[in-house]
Amino acid sequence: MSTTLITNIGLLVSGDPAVPPVRDTAVLIEDGVITEIGAQAEAADIVIDAAGQSVMPGLIDGHVHPTVGEWTPAQNSTGWVRNYLHGGTTSMVSAGELHIPGLPFEDLTPRLVTGLATLAKRTIGSYRPSGVKVHAGTLLLVRGLTDAHFDTLADDGISQLKFIFYDWSHLEDGEAQQYVTWAHERRMTVKMHSGGVSRSGSSRVAGHELVTAVSPDVIAHISGGPIPMPDDEIVRTIQDLPEATVEVCSSMNYRATQVTVDELVRTNQLHRLTLGTDTPGGTGVIPRGMLRNIGYLASVCGLSPELAIAAGTGNVARRHGLPGGVLTVGQPADLLILGPITGSRATDVLECFQLGDLPGISLVMVDGEILVSGRSEQTPPPTVGATVH
Ligand SMILES: [Zn+2]
Repeated sequence: MSTTLITNIGLLVSGDPAVPPVRDTAVLIEDGVITEIGAQAEAADIVIDAAGQSVMPGLIDGHVHPTVGEWTPAQNSTGWVRNYLHGGTTSMVSAGELHIPGLPFEDLTPRLVTGLATLAKRTIGSYRPSGVKVHAGTLLLVRGLTDAHFDTLADDGISQLKFIFYDWSHLEDGEAQQYVTWAHERRMTVKMHSGGVSRSGSSRVAGHELVTAVSPDVIAHISGGPIPMPDDEIVRTIQDLPEATVEVCSSMNYRATQVTVDELVRTNQLHRLTLGTDTPGGTGVIPRGMLRNIGYLASVCGLSPELAIAAGTGNVARRHGLPGGVLTVGQPADLLILGPITGSRATDVLECFQLGDLPGISLVMVDGEILVSGRSEQTPPPTVGATVH
């Protein structure tokens, strides 16, 4: 058994708003799993001195578009997954592998989309590029799928489905709703593109009427990806689908995000909020996108930093049925050590987000394995860095 002890933690934020942040603590990790918080042990195979900095769960980007390995044709760049790791993202959930050059958006067949999802599941979805847990192999729902297709998808481990290019002119025949039922019978999660068309130009406009008719599990980028539905429809959609997760992405319309958050705060439903970047894509490649999302929500939209962090960690894990996202005993040790950057007025990570200041990352760990140490390549260093012994 291998053991890792993180000592001298100034502040530990769990990713679960029901668990208050803990000051001056230590965490014991055994074989990649958190086994004790408030640990008294002084020795371990690896001892990390957090130097009084903060510890929080690794970020889970709920909306990414992987293609092949770490190459993204959307911006013709490589190495994006590694860059996101250095921005604190330890897991990501694909919202469809739809950037493959030449993909005929107007002519997607069941055979093509099931093949694509399986390919992604067995490639980028299985080998952990740069050590990041990429949950890929997300089926693009099209007309003509059968119960047997869903069986095959389940056999292949496909668990995320997405409505984006589906032809809504046939909505009244009930096929889309049938897909949601079939998905739930197999514990799959259905995400639905909402708002105006995306960069492809081929996604379909989906406002309150369509989204509530389909009743997906996740309302993708409700505040814009990049164009949101009208404000009154955002509010009514949140109200009329009380079970649905409300996703906000970096591709957002900032004004509409305030509308979204106001409604969730007013009705005390922030547990429904999840975050993603909706990248790579037209919004770019944003290694610090999740950190910036949390900072925006906490500094401008009036959310407490603990709730904003949960939206980018524990809430995403819970919605998509993934392990992690919270730092509690029995969970994988996917975590960040981070703190204020020199020049910031903040004293810990919560104050950073409340001020809207980017925190500096000094260590990233996935399943107990240190993947980034010393300092991140994508953030300035925190005033004091963690040291590994
Ligand atoms: Zn997207």
